[in-house]
Amino acid sequence: MNSKTIVILGGGVGGIVAANELRARLPRHNRVVVVERNTLHSFAPSYLWLMTGDRRPDQITRDLRSLLRPGIDLIQAEVKQIDIASRHVETSLKSLDYDYLVVALGADLAPEVIPGLVESAHTFYSLDGSIKLREALRSFTGGSIAVVVAGTPYKCPGAPHEGAMLIANSMKRRGLDKATEVHLFTPEPQPLPVAGPELGELVRGLLISKGVHFHPLHRIKMVSPQAKELQFENRESFRFDMMVSIPPHRAPAVLQSSGLTNEAGWVPVDRNTLATRHENIFAIGDVTAVSIPGRWKADVPMMLPKAGVFAHAQAHTVAKIIAAAVEGRDSRDAFCGGGYCMLEAGEDLAGFAHGDFFAEPAPRIELKRVGKTWHLGKVLFEKWWLMPPGLRRTLLQNTIRLGAKVYGIPAVI
Ligand SMILES: Cc1cc2nc3c(=O)[nH]c(=O)nc-3n(C[C@H](O)[C@H](O)[C@H](O)COP(=O)(O)OP(=O)(O)OC[C@H]3O[C@@H](n4cnc5c(N)ncnc54)[C@H](O)[C@@H]3O)c2cc1C
Repeated sequence: MNSKTIVILGGGVGGIVAANELRARLPRHNRVVVVERNTLHSFAPSYLWLMTGDRRPDQITRDLRSLLRPGIDLIQAEVKQIDIASRHVETSLKSLDYDYLVVALGADLAPEVIPGLVESAHTFYSLDGSIKLREALRSFTGGSIAVVVAGTPYKCPGAPHEGAMLIANSMKRRGLDKATEVHLFTPEPQPLPVAGPELGELVRGLLISKGVHFHPLHRIKMVSPQAKELQFENRESFRFDMMVSIPPHRAPAVLQSSGLTNEAGWVPVDRNTLATRHENIFAIGDVTAVSIPGRWKADVPMMLPKAGVFAHAQAHTVAKIIAAAVEGRDSRDAFCGGGYCMLEAGEDLAGFAHGDFFAEPAPRIELKRVGKTWHLGKVLFEKWWLMPPGLRRTLLQNTIRLGAKVYGIPAVI
């Protein structure tokens, strides 16, 4: 019997889905291995609710093992090196040979890139950061809160806007809205540039209606922790009482040293098959660079946003392609660029943006009216994601598909 080993680097959103799909599709004599440094998995969209005190850490974290199907080898270790020529991965625990490799290592946060950021800023972009920010928000008694996008690209184009609105809402709940100003600074020209000017205007209106002051085209240079001052390129400085940052992101260092990344530091892939330039190596999720039609930034095509919804769908595609290859079949499976996002606005309300990011001549994205339904959808998705895989598949997947049918939207699960 010809057995194959599929090694998946990273046990986050993409890695979990890819491993479960491969295990479900491949006969047991083939090995499916996941290498992940953390034993716990946390659901990142809920960091926002953790920050506002609407979740406890234990409600949004699970033992990673419980989210993987039986029959998947989980190696808790740091990926140290990928040797493309000899199809070999070095980890902090052991060496692994692979027949197929799926790189799903996500994006690292790099706050140290901006002088003063580490000392000055909270963040809701990590579990620990959200826990600390929750305490800081609880003891905040009023003043100006600066939410700052410190670099592009970053995960989830909606999250900084959601974060600013939820912070404003948490101040309102504590009767501090008159004593507090929430400011959102970003180097981008509008909210969610990838979704086009019309949608950007809608989100800008939403921010204003929630009392958030929006400052586009503000690229941060440094922060002065003593003076509590933000300094921007070619803009006036800004004094804050509390700073919350979306830190700069970069691909994990191991990918750069393995020769998988492009000049910008991300892993280029075929947008449909997620194949890298190297035979039998695929990359999915936040590590990838996938250009999209019709959106440009300084003469360079914009990239597909870094979002769990894409990591999830790409993982399905790659699992189908690898399973077909292992079984000696051709595969026509392709990632289609469809995606969606529930945009939390506070007071249990959310908007819903969805569309086709590969549409020609430019992505077609629509924003549904803010309402309780989309907030409920996000809560349901959170519960679904954190269930053991067997239960997940049979129960909520069908509910989500039904919901998508009723609302006439794509069910990208
Ligand atoms: C606050 C916030 C809100 C968000 N909201 C949404 C949302 O509403 N909708 C949405 O679609 N997306 C959202 N996202 C984005 C989403 O979480 C990511 O896009 C998604 O997790 C990407 O999946 P991934 O598999 O590429 O990476 P990840 O899920 O980050 O997984 C990467 C894994 O690799 C591991 N790893 C990295 N380096 C190594 C190494 N050297 N050795 C071993 N293991 C390693 C990491 O520990 C991690 O577990 C949000 C993100 C944040 C921070």
